[in-house]
Amino acid sequence: MQLQDAQLFRQQAYIDGQWLDADSGQTIAVNNPATGEIIGHVPKMGRAETRRAIEAAEKALPAWRALTAKERAGKLRRWFELLMENQDDLGRLMTLEQGKPLAEAKGEIAYAASFIEWFAEEAKRVYGDVIPGHQPDKRLIVIKQPIGVTAAITPWNFPAAMITRKAGPALAAGCTMVIKPASQTPFSALALVELAERAGIPQGVLSVVTGSAGEVGGELTGNPIVRKLSFTGSTEIGRQLMAECAQDIKKVSLELGGNAPFIVFDDADLDAAVEGALISKYRNNGQTCVCANRIYVQDGVYDAFADKLKAAVAKLKIGNGLEDGTTTGPLIDEKAVAKVQEHIEDALAKGAKLALGGKPHALGGTFFEPTILVDVPKNAAVAKEETFGPLAPLFRFKDDAEVIAMANDTEFGLASYFYARDLGRVFRVAEALEYGMVGINTGLISNEVAPFGGVKASGLGREGSKYGIEDYLEIKYMCLGGI
Ligand code: ADP
Repeated sequence: MQLQDAQLFRQQAYIDGQWLDADSGQTIAVNNPATGEIIGHVPKMGRAETRRAIEAAEKALPAWRALTAKERAGKLRRWFELLMENQDDLGRLMTLEQGKPLAEAKGEIAYAASFIEWFAEEAKRVYGDVIPGHQPDKRLIVIKQPIGVTAAITPWNFPAAMITRKAGPALAAGCTMVIKPASQTPFSALALVELAERAGIPQGVLSVVTGSAGEVGGELTGNPIVRKLSFTGSTEIGRQLMAECAQDIKKVSLELGGNAPFIVFDDADLDAAVEGALISKYRNNGQTCVCANRIYVQDGVYDAFADKLKAAVAKLKIGNGLEDGTTTGPLIDEKAVAKVQEHIEDALAKGAKLALGGKPHALGGTFFEPTILVDVPKNAAVAKEETFGPLAPLFRFKDDAEVIAMANDTEFGLASYFYARDLGRVFRVAEALEYGMVGINTGLISNEVAPFGGVKASGLGREGSKYGIEDYLEIKYMCLGGI
């Protein structure tokens, strides 16, 4: 493993301030997707251990919630500093279990830490309201209070940031939290809580339970102590978890699938659009929910854009993320490879042409060639479904109305992108896109100060920004009479 701080590699779950094995003694193996080697094991926990974590979160709640915002902010700030001080180790651990290039992994640690820093600051700005009364002898006051015990279920594509985006606002607001990380990438989550403990986050406030998704998830959604679930993952599982939460009317925040359109208009700066497409499409090897999934290019610039994109993508260096110069790692598993292949075959069968790549990489395993398809027809599966891999399908369009209709013709509504210079067009298109986020002349939109989230089947709620903490707060209205 070769970490500077060996204590950051934890192979036990963290419940109520204790490092623990599963009651059954069973474990789950975690592999390195670049080599297939097993890098370690984590406990395969189930309902009983999850219940204990929830009960510990309930026990820890009164004292945590009673701290002043400044006191909570101080501990979160310390956690942020520890994350940054250990950026190299945390990045390495992430590359080993997730596969992304080391520079990208370290970038994610800085991004993850930024949510802790931001919400430490926001903790102090949970303002209420005094409302002018409706009767002379009454005063109306609104305060905001923490929801209580919360739960988070997180995916493998951003093993650190998807946790801090939830734990940061939860803890800042005065909530406690139980986290179930993805079984492919639990070590990043465990290292994060090791550092949270060192930062002085009290016992029980933040637990990480590793194990069976169905059992741990089932307890988190089924236990009435949990008042809120925040989930990032597929729409299919999000729908199921939301239904499970309906039983207790738990609050839910959902960050689900996307199917981002990336539109290049004929007045775009083409070099900038290629640069944006490269980062939006191939970052994390196409495995982000805001990755460009469909690239629409206007007739007049179609061929020029396709040529420039091909030249840029051909320069990507595929390999083990720990090797210098690697820009693109492996896919997470065989299932991910199969999905990319399925979308390529479907598009080719319907008339698309292969411009680059198209097959598993010579490195073997789950490495895949960065792929570009041109002249992709509207009825290709990739127009409707998220590929979550390194496939850039180029569609052709004639005018604004046509491309807006195509871009919105999906159940999803997370990120969207377009490149244009005409100011009127910029506003018209940005307003017409049915998406929670619009990147205009940029392929990178995520940061801690902006609201991240989707509409339609892409989810509920927002993470990051001043809005993010609202997802962990209840509004209480007090009506004072007899004045
Ligand atoms: P992905 O396709 O990105 O793996 P999933 O939605 O399958 O997305 O997984 C996201 C997270 O949800 C992971 O932590 C996974 O373990 C968890 N998960 C998957 N199935 C369930 C389930 N039935 N109940 C609770 N959590 C689940």
